[in-house]
Amino acid sequence: MELEICEKVKSLSEQAEIDLKNEFEKVDEICLYNSQKVLDAFVKNRVSYSDFQDINGYGFYDGGRDKLEKIFAEVLGAEDALVRPQMMSGTNAIALALSALLHYGDTMISITGLPYDSLRGIIGLSGNSSQSLKNNGVKYEQIELVDDDFDYNKIGKRLKKHNVKLVEIQRSTGYSTRKSLTIAQIEKVCTVIKDADPNVIIMVDNCYGELVETKEPCQVGADIVVGSLMKNLGGGIASSGGYVAGKKELVEMVADRLTAPCIGKSLGANFNQNILFFKGLYMAPNAVKGALKTAIFSSYMLEKLGFSGVSPRYNEPRTDIIQKFDLGSAENLTKFCQGLQNGSPIDAFVTVLPGPMPGYPFDEVMAAGTFTQGSTIELSADAPVCEPYTLYMQGGLTYEYGKLGVMVALSKMLN
Ligand SMILES: *Cc1c(COP(=O)(O)O)cnc(C)c1O
Repeated sequence: MELEICEKVKSLSEQAEIDLKNEFEKVDEICLYNSQKVLDAFVKNRVSYSDFQDINGYGFYDGGRDKLEKIFAEVLGAEDALVRPQMMSGTNAIALALSALLHYGDTMISITGLPYDSLRGIIGLSGNSSQSLKNNGVKYEQIELVDDDFDYNKIGKRLKKHNVKLVEIQRSTGYSTRKSLTIAQIEKVCTVIKDADPNVIIMVDNCYGELVETKEPCQVGADIVVGSLMKNLGGGIASSGGYVAGKKELVEMVADRLTAPCIGKSLGANFNQNILFFKGLYMAPNAVKGALKTAIFSSYMLEKLGFSGVSPRYNEPRTDIIQKFDLGSAENLTKFCQGLQNGSPIDAFVTVLPGPMPGYPFDEVMAAGTFTQGSTIELSADAPVCEPYTLYMQGGLTYEYGKLGVMVALSKMLN
């Protein structure tokens, strides 16, 4: 069997290439800028073959691992970074960072409303783990966004009481209906926060946002950022891992929590992953470019085909790699996901169907024909099967593969 693409989709995609020229140029420019940032860091830090040779056992004096962390820090505009396979995902890295930075009696505030699904158990908003922050005496408060922007007044007022330890900002939309936050908005809110209380720690959940703009949160006032290597900065090459980057003393606290107090970053073999992490970061600006162009293309196609809830629109500025659209029916959702899976390199022959998922109130349908299981810098999509049948799609290691996947998905849905 080969890729099935219908005439209607094919001709609309030709028009898309013409109409999206300007949008794609902007993405190319950002990719060039961020590629230079990455290459500068490689050259400056004299990466060499010997850096790929991991040290086993305790991993003491692994120069490659240390260099990798220095390069990640530079790319993220941070003082220091922790980049390890022992942080197994973004959720793991966030749980680790929060539990390192927050102790009994401390208060954290989310200023982007309800956090991403997998963070709720960490905080104690769902489930009842004895390891949740709540069950360890950490207080939690939440300030909602107003019209997809921070509630600057409310945030400033709350922080003037000087009893908040940490503010959490989620850059990406995640599985919510809001828009993602731009670096400009994050800069503005960091100023408000630090004016009100210079001692508060500003932590940004950076998942899906990395390298989408030319600046990163630590360059505009954030103290620490956290993310997953199965997303943007893994470049589709890293096969696991997470990162934390920011102020040196904060990164050290997280490292002490990961390994052991007073040992911190010096412990930990990387299981021959160094080369994958280096190469993943090297490829990351381009992988993000592929994902962004795929998102822009799909946004255009869905809008022209008359679907609603397309967000961001194809010509709107972007600050993460997620594309949302409402497909209007369970059948459309399922067909689109089936087509996307058929247009993927791995498990293309699988027919995906909606099914129950632990922890989710509705059946979920998803497509992920990815080399790395669950990797979302690779083309993937998922949706809860409920009104208005919104699909969340992201990734695409190259635009060409992403575009083909979307064309197969649309053909399957329309026919
Ligand atoms: C994906 C994501 C996470 C969790 O990362 P995983 O690697 O999936 O554990 C956290 N926050 C946001 C906003 C995300 O998009």
